[in-house]
Amino acid sequence: MSSINVFENLLLRYHENKLAHAFLLETNNEELCYKDVLELIKKMNCSFNYSNNCSLDCNICNLIDNNSLPSLITIVPDGQFIKKGQITDMMERFSTKPVFTKENIYVIREAERFNSSSANTLLKFLEEPEDNIIGIFITSNKENVISTIRSRCQIFSCIYDNNIIDCLDDNILTDVKLYLNSIYKNADDLLYNKTHMSGFYTDRKDWELFFKTMLYYLDDCYISERLDKVELVKNISKDKLIKIIVLIEDILKYIKSNGNIDLILDKFVIEMRNYYE
Ligand SMILES: [Zn+2]
Repeated sequence: MSSINVFENLLLRYHENKLAHAFLLETNNEELCYKDVLELIKKMNCSFNYSNNCSLDCNICNLIDNNSLPSLITIVPDGQFIKKGQITDMMERFSTKPVFTKENIYVIREAERFNSSSANTLLKFLEEPEDNIIGIFITSNKENVISTIRSRCQIFSCIYDNNIIDCLDDNILTDVKLYLNSIYKNADDLLYNKTHMSGFYTDRKDWELFFKTMLYYLDDCYISERLDKVELVKNISKDKLIKIIVLIEDILKYIKSNGNIDLILDKFVIEMRNYYE
């Protein structure tokens, strides 16, 4: 089932009152999945028969776009884990009935990052589901979600084609190409990291997006005849390009496991030197 159909299915279930109080979405693209979840929530609640340009005059869609709908809370890990305090804050806010919408809805991103104390706190909530609360969990790997939570969720798979056109933000892609051009065959690549890249993004999520963009871009350079190939890509063999793609996948793992960004960037340029012919 394509990801679009998953959300159509969820919306249909919702309108037929068949949607579970908690469901888990396993996805290969967390960002896109979250965007689609927000769109689903709009469709569930929009009073103007939601369409893409609805937000111009629609209160609910506007509030969702501005992240200020009182009955919607998105939780992302605070540091390495989702913390107990984030769950208790949410429970406290949802102890009252929703105002603009039929349900209070919480979305938990990176649901594999509960620790035992935040998971136990949430369990109470999941075990005594109230009619007007919906929990949506997003994860890249359902096997890594604490089993007590997973077992109380209806599970859906939400797989996207890694289609470059959907995934790439033009500004980030520009940054990526500039970076690849700057370090390519540059004896001062480490210095470039230090002077230009250190602190380039303050948020780890932005670094993740940066390297994901690089990954999608190089993937696409591999499989298609892009007109905007950087020098590096034009000059190396496809074998080497594949190795770089594998390297970037590793880099993304280091970023996700909270490695020091400056060290990760240095590791990246040092390993990249192996692939310049
Ligand atoms: Zn609307």
